[in-house]
Amino acid sequence: MPRAGDERHPEIREAVRALCARFPPDYHRDVDARRVYPEAFVDALTRAGWLAALIPQEYGGSGLGLGEASVILEEINRSGGNAGACHGQMYNMGTLLRHGSAAQKQRWLPAIARGELRLQSMAVTEPTTGTDTTKIRTTAVRQGDRWMVNGQKVWTSRVQHSDLMILLARTTPLAEVKRKSEGLSIFVVDLREAIGRGLTVRPIPNMVNHETNELFFEDLEIPHEHLIGEEGQGFRYILDGLNAERTLIAAECIGDGFWFVDKVTAYAKERVVFGRPIGQNQGVQFPIAEAHIELEAANGMRWEACRLFDAHAPCGAQANMAKYLAAKASWEAANAAIQFHGGFGFASEYDVERKFRETRLYQVAPISTNLILSHVAEHLLGLPRSF
Ligand SMILES: Cc1cc2nc3c(=O)[nH]c(=O)nc-3n(C[C@H](O)[C@H](O)[C@H](O)COP(=O)(O)OP(=O)(O)OC[C@H]3O[C@@H](n4cnc5c(N)ncnc54)[C@H](O)[C@@H]3O)c2cc1C
Repeated sequence: MPRAGDERHPEIREAVRALCARFPPDYHRDVDARRVYPEAFVDALTRAGWLAALIPQEYGGSGLGLGEASVILEEINRSGGNAGACHGQMYNMGTLLRHGSAAQKQRWLPAIARGELRLQSMAVTEPTTGTDTTKIRTTAVRQGDRWMVNGQKVWTSRVQHSDLMILLARTTPLAEVKRKSEGLSIFVVDLREAIGRGLTVRPIPNMVNHETNELFFEDLEIPHEHLIGEEGQGFRYILDGLNAERTLIAAECIGDGFWFVDKVTAYAKERVVFGRPIGQNQGVQFPIAEAHIELEAANGMRWEACRLFDAHAPCGAQANMAKYLAAKASWEAANAAIQFHGGFGFASEYDVERKFRETRLYQVAPISTNLILSHVAEHLLGLPRSF
């Protein structure tokens, strides 16, 4: 029987699947148990060029569309891995690509495409302001040919496995701008120079094997040539990048979701209780079938978001809705998988509990479900603005 969701880009799927097969479930289980970075896996993906999918060929990348790129991340999650360890390398460079100067692109993109430089981190979220991003308190103040950064970030992922980081900071005080979205700017921080010289990194132990951190900036100096685009327009630049990020993460959720459905379907066929396979009971079949239907529907919205993005058409609504539907469907599938594995769902060796934890994150990050609902209510349905 052909695998569900497999119709598009079979060559890419096959190649990524072959690479992932070199890192079987016990590899991912082991890095999760030891809470270490899956260095060998990320290295293999980098060397094969998969993480440079969205970098144009003129900078040494493969210049693929978002649809193809999304298949790469989907297949990683569907193989039992977790693309969260490295997805930032695929999409964080988009800010540089779209808004950087010719000199900045020449300086960084080819090295990122070759895998010599990692740009895996983006520091936006702050402890005191949460989702209310325009209220961030980290400031960058210009002093001649340098910017002086002070403040704090939280949940900045992969900093310990990245060379460069995108930083959002306020460069004009909130009280002095006409619109709250103005006066924020984007910088490239060279982590190799910054850590220990104005930047302190404190890891946050968390529910999944996800390297994420608190950052403390104390008079960190950034050269002026690391400012991306126009000063004060950084919030708009960050928003520009979100559609790609949301669509790619929707594809990861779909990979997770089909992994759960495949896993629990196989188990329900072979686990015999009361003299018959548990999968013969409709009480078991229906939640699995429901998760499958919801995944297929989410997949449709994911492909619509990819199609619009690759046609350079507006796709904010579709990207948000794809992320919402896919995260919900993968979570439903995760619940069915853990439920019908009974006690074994909780045993690490089945991988269900690990993937269950991993896919739960996407109800909250990179944007919470409520914030998507609020976007749809306000921007698609024209309901009154609530904040
Ligand atoms: C493992 C992990 C990795 C992350 N990596 C990064 C990263 O690399 N870079 C980065 O910048 N950030 C990162 N984040 C942060 C992530 O994007 C935020 O956690 C997320 O956007 C939610 O923001 P918050 O935690 O501040 O929640 P809050 O904004 O404090 O919200 C808390 C809850 O209240 C709800 N809520 C808030 N306001 C409203 C409202 N008006 N209406 C209805 N509900 C509301 C939210 O939906 C949420 O569920 C990461 C987070 C995690 C957990």
